[in-house]
Amino acid sequence: MLDASLRYFHQAAEVLGLSTNIREILVTPRRVMKVEIVTEGDDGLLSRHIGFRVQHNNARGPYKGGLRYHPAMDEDHASALASLMTWKTAIVNVPFGGAKGGISCDPSKMSVVDLDRVTRTFVERTKEIMGPTLDIPAPDVNTNPEVMAWIMDEYSKYEGFSPAVVTGKPVHLFGSVGRDEATGRGVMYALREALRDQGKKLSDITVAIQGFGNVGSHAARLIAAEGGTIVAVADHLGGVSKPDGLDVPALFAWAGQHHTVDAFPGGDAFDCSEIITWPADVLIPAALEDAITADHAPDVQASIIIEAANGPTTPEANDLLHKRGVTIVPDILANAGGVTVSYFEWAQNIQQFRWEIDRVNAELEKVMIRAYQDVRDVAAKRKIDLRTASFVLGIQRVGIASLSRQHARVPIDLS
Ligand code: GLU
Repeated sequence: MLDASLRYFHQAAEVLGLSTNIREILVTPRRVMKVEIVTEGDDGLLSRHIGFRVQHNNARGPYKGGLRYHPAMDEDHASALASLMTWKTAIVNVPFGGAKGGISCDPSKMSVVDLDRVTRTFVERTKEIMGPTLDIPAPDVNTNPEVMAWIMDEYSKYEGFSPAVVTGKPVHLFGSVGRDEATGRGVMYALREALRDQGKKLSDITVAIQGFGNVGSHAARLIAAEGGTIVAVADHLGGVSKPDGLDVPALFAWAGQHHTVDAFPGGDAFDCSEIITWPADVLIPAALEDAITADHAPDVQASIIIEAANGPTTPEANDLLHKRGVTIVPDILANAGGVTVSYFEWAQNIQQFRWEIDRVNAELEKVMIRAYQDVRDVAAKRKIDLRTASFVLGIQRVGIASLSRQHARVPIDLS
């Protein structure tokens, strides 16, 4: 993960002709915090977890990025994901920097009470570096609005009422309408724009989706609502397919009840490992990183990949797919709808003013279209792929802000 994000960074830095010195400045996180979280478990015994927060860059605004609860969470992981947030917030041009954090734990083996305790202890340990104008966490893998509510509550105990310290909160607790589906909605807009470039519409295409969590499920629902045909969906327990299109609202309801798409009666079951090479026009990886590997690349049938997850394509697979002419809309553009509506939520909290859903969706649509066009223009101008163009645009915007803040006298061409 760290290797991949560094590789893409250097590819873009090469295009921009950045020196080693400037590259190092831009790549190094500004601050890394690692905390020990000791809590009393449900069994009355002490349990220990390690929590991380990597603050990568804040030249364009407060640090911003999710908190991930996962056994594989470590400092390298958090660093790679934090840097992706920096480029992502710059690409959609919201006034934030980039951060990421989380706790190395397995929430599927923890009770809600245990998760609450661990979360609150994490806040207690990291509160000095968090705040509405400092660093604003949000949901990521295995965290949700409920966890964000605990964070707001715990932080407010120390600092006073602070809804803007975290985004992705429940709507009844200072969250924004539309935030829950925002990443999936942004994925739908990104796909729509990529299709427009090829003279196609959502109603012309078939789609296979890996992952049916927050991002995959809303993306499926919204793409289907716009006329797209969702032919296959898989999660880690199983897959379900229907050549003339799954009934996505019914699948949504099933997954809500059973926490998996497996055994959904409205389609044919298949082994989840087949989803990446499923015969469909579009593939949307919306699960974890490294889902599409060099082994899959020759057999991928989709001509467009929309990276709804962070880092779902390995660099080797990326190169092979690129050579085969597959269009990849990269994570830092495709899934930026989440942080965009996080920005709207933060702005609403700061202003003590609530937006209607139509406003949230209309503003999100504008931001996603603009970001897609900006990236596509860079790609066309420099004759590079969308991923490299996204990194180039992100690095340019962050680089200009960093340099004009701190190093104004050093002449660097970021144009
Ligand atoms: N975790 C999400 C992401 O990777 C959202 C971050 C945010 O809203 O701050 O983009």
